Amino acid sequence: MDHFRYREGALWAEGVALSDIAEAVGTPVYVYSTATLLRHYRLFEEALAGLPHLVCYAMKANGNLAVVRTLAEAGAGADVVSAGEYLKARAAGVPAGRIVFSGVGKTRAEMRLALAGGIRQFNVESEPELAALSEVAVALGTRAPVALRINPDVDARTHDKISTGRKEDKFGIPLARARAAYGAAAALPGIAVQGVDMHIGSQLTDLAPFEAAFRRLADLVALLRADGHAIGRLDLGGGLGIPYAAAGAPPPLPAHYGALVARTLGHLGCEIEVEPGRLIVGNAGVLLARVLYLKDGEGRRFLIVDAAMNDLVRPAMYGAHHEVVPVAEPAGEAPLAPFDIVGPVCESADTFARARPLPPLAAGDLVAFRSAGAYGAAMASEYNARPLVPEVLVRGDHFAVIRPRPTYEELIGRDTLPPWL
Ligand SMILES: *Cc1c(COP(=O)(O)O)cnc(C)c1O
Repeated sequence: MDHFRYREGALWAEGVALSDIAEAVGTPVYVYSTATLLRHYRLFEEALAGLPHLVCYAMKANGNLAVVRTLAEAGAGADVVSAGEYLKARAAGVPAGRIVFSGVGKTRAEMRLALAGGIRQFNVESEPELAALSEVAVALGTRAPVALRINPDVDARTHDKISTGRKEDKFGIPLARARAAYGAAAALPGIAVQGVDMHIGSQLTDLAPFEAAFRRLADLVALLRADGHAIGRLDLGGGLGIPYAAAGAPPPLPAHYGALVARTLGHLGCEIEVEPGRLIVGNAGVLLARVLYLKDGEGRRFLIVDAAMNDLVRPAMYGAHHEVVPVAEPAGEAPLAPFDIVGPVCESADTFARARPLPPLAAGDLVAFRSAGAYGAAMASEYNARPLVPEVLVRGDHFAVIRPRPTYEELIGRDTLPPWL
């Protein structure tokens, strides 16, 4: 459920007409709904209410300061994967004790920064990284709180580029090496083992891979405890999928996920950490664009819009589907005709959809790409010298620009000339 609805013949975000935002800020522009963000965060809170838990929002899905602060004020922690995200989480008001640091290649500088600034836990992905973290912690006269990310060798059955829990993926420590790695961790002077971490992939639309992973995790915890390790926390990662297409079976609800967690892991008495990203922000955002031209090709019609793959790369990168809807509500009986929806960038990959059935549209009309709140603005670039796409946050009947569109002067001024030119 989200708060983007047709009302009085036009698409609104909560109490704001999207056309008003397009008028004020220009297009393309991302628009996020506060009520939807908070609703999705609270679904996780409720889903895990029966267990001690912490919801650490995965900032890489959408790291805008205003988005992170909205969630931090509601009580969320953060899952960060770089020094930049760590500092942004702190700037957004996330307490250090609610930040977990994930990622397959943390640098010593990043470890130092987080240890000095305070951190709930590092999710460590290899034994060499563990040794490096121990050295950094000892040099600072402290011990680093750690969970080891274990790769359970479960196929998340999602897109290949976002599957992370198979043994051929680069992530985590293989399950077969887990006991040895915990043995090594216990022997290191700068490491304080807290728990076990997993994250098997993103956009999972089925609970079965989670169930397989959680059962392996429960077995592992029993073994590690028998080996003498105090395992008090289980970080289950993120990955719960969202409905991108209007048709098709909806993915599992957080409540069902929570029930699965309780059933498979609840008896262990651990504090549960989850790191949802996409499920919190995905359907809380749209990308608003304007139709530039309609063009007739050989046997195809192209709808050329002013947003491009640099603004929303998911279709080009993952073959992802986004619903595209007109901002002016189409008449119920409006005939649908197939369009290739494309942007202005000089790449054939700059295609948002092929042969997408759309109601009649004309140059100048506004369209909204739905479910664009996660991995949208966060992955945007200035390719083709297109200024970074701006972002707007709606709350009730107000909206605010939370990242302005850079001017051309700013865009050009970011480069510097060497003394010989
Ligand atoms: C990407 C990622 C997440 C968030 O995944 P979503 O699919 O957005 O929920 C959580 N944890 C880790 C370690 C990740 O890499």
